[in-house]
Amino acid sequence: MDQIDAVRTPASWVVVGLDNGGTCNNATVLDATGQFLVDRLVENPSRVQDGPESAVESLAEAFTGILAMTSTPLSLVRAVGLDTPGPASADGVISSKGSTNFSQVSWHGFDIRGALQARIGLPVIYHNDANAAALYAHHRHFGADAAKRSSVAAIVGTGLGGGVVESGKVISGAAGMAGELGHVQIPLHGVLEDGQPVPVCNCGFEGDVESIASLTGIAKNLLPYWFTRFPDHPLAAEPIASAAKMLRGYGEKEDPLALAVFAQQARAVGKLFTIAANFTDPAAYFLGGGVVEAAPHFRQWFLNTVREHTQLRREQQAAATFALVPDLDMAGARGAAVAALEAVSV
Ligand SMILES: [Zn+2]
Repeated sequence: MDQIDAVRTPASWVVVGLDNGGTCNNATVLDATGQFLVDRLVENPSRVQDGPESAVESLAEAFTGILAMTSTPLSLVRAVGLDTPGPASADGVISSKGSTNFSQVSWHGFDIRGALQARIGLPVIYHNDANAAALYAHHRHFGADAAKRSSVAAIVGTGLGGGVVESGKVISGAAGMAGELGHVQIPLHGVLEDGQPVPVCNCGFEGDVESIASLTGIAKNLLPYWFTRFPDHPLAAEPIASAAKMLRGYGEKEDPLALAVFAQQARAVGKLFTIAANFTDPAAYFLGGGVVEAAPHFRQWFLNTVREHTQLRREQQAAATFALVPDLDMAGARGAAVAALEAVSV
């Protein structure tokens, strides 16, 4: 799926995938047969902090740049897939309250999908970044069977992003807010220690998945508690935000405090997947994010711990698989491209 298709004929067509991030855009090209023409990150500055006009221009530059790099004529492009961080509507209107990446007032309620479509004159299909990554994980894992399968993905990063895929398609929801798995509240029994305060999320919920299984959750909720249990830990002397970021390195070295924190995260994701098992009963449970970029023994331990705490019925255990989300840094652009390919294939 990654190799360059050297025998592409002039009659075939392509879609372009554009992943918009806080500092960079990442671009890819996917041809009509499902082959990616780019096997690495191809980035340009996203300029989102300069406001919508500059950012849309940067996306247009990413688009023309990736066509030039792959020697693809513009006339072969049928559609463009775009993903950005949320929150945004299902068709790419940034939240009226803005967000971390889209803080300028000119972004509030801005239709980034419509603006890019007008700028480049091709259909643009939109997903938020977690949904795009979930879609890519699904298609990469199931290949030709993707349209017949379902999956759920949890991406543990600064927050907890997610995606729900049914019959190969991302569930978007009426307001575009389906798959916001981070804000699903979970039973805390078996997750928290006796006497541990109930974690609170930035969204205002108590005890949702993101309040535990995210970098924010580590800094805000988990480390402040665990430092009371390990007062002499070297990270206790660090500012809490740095300590949270450094924790993964300690986890890889099997530091007891770090393992306690990451085990809580894995148990929380297991509780979430247990809810998913009773909701859409997916064929695959995907796990992505920073923790997956850790050393192989550590990420395997994390995935195993998630699996141990996902309560499946016997029939479900036989039918479901657990896997790490591959190519995470390219997953957004690739998932956006997959969505565009599907949109124009029918
Ligand atoms: Zn929340």
